[in-house]
Amino acid sequence: MRAQAAWLKRLFKNIPSGPCSLCRGSLEASHAAICAACSDALPWMHNSCQRCALPLENAQLCIACAAAPPPYERCIAALHCLPPMNYLIGDVKRDAYAPVTRQLALQCASVFHRAYRRRLPDLLVPVPLHWSKQLRRGFNQCELLGRHLTQALPEIQLRCDICRRTGSAPPQRRQSKINRKRAVADAFNCRIPLDQARIAILDDVVTTGATAASMTHSLLAAGARQVDVWCIARTGWNNY
Ligand SMILES: [Zn+2]
Ligand SMILES: [Zn+2]
Repeated sequence: MRAQAAWLKRLFKNIPSGPCSLCRGSLEASHAAICAACSDALPWMHNSCQRCALPLENAQLCIACAAAPPPYERCIAALHCLPPMNYLIGDVKRDAYAPVTRQLALQCASVFHRAYRRRLPDLLVPVPLHWSKQLRRGFNQCELLGRHLTQALPEIQLRCDICRRTGSAPPQRRQSKINRKRAVADAFNCRIPLDQARIAILDDVVTTGATAASMTHSLLAAGARQVDVWCIARTGWNNY
């Protein structure tokens, strides 16, 4: 029976689970959720601010970072938060078993890896949810993305125990930048000494960077040497 189960597992491993989530066409064996053509057509980020990953046409730094850089060293965004990313990220947040979570994580892993000339950060810390939100949702989508990412990048260690979210901020959409900053200030608590570790925060979507900045302050206060931010998608000026 066990041998049969292993054989079935091997058989189904390379068989796509259904049609492409975007075009409903057939999936290649190596693609779990989006076909190769749709995945090439996703809004991959090519030019962005070197510090906060805000999409830019030509410049290296956005006006805000030139005036006052964020506390994190840099944000690396794989994609623009433009359609169909809102739909795909919605799936990642709704369904703990959505095949798109793994595919997005694996494709973004190569973007994050390419961003480092030398070694990757030591620890990958997913943005935590407040316990009440995690209880309602049943899972933290950033942790799930982190598990798949660290399978592809075993040099970086996933740590979900370092940082707790103490404030339960309201949803950030439709809030002004100043209100978002206030809502997430002091929202995180890191009690584990970080002993000069180099850390990458992992978030699904970065909007103003206020959450990442607040978490960075807590990680630096706990002894981190450097904090970067990795995100699947980044919003631009016009879709705050
Ligand atoms: Zn497709
Ligand atoms: Zn910037």
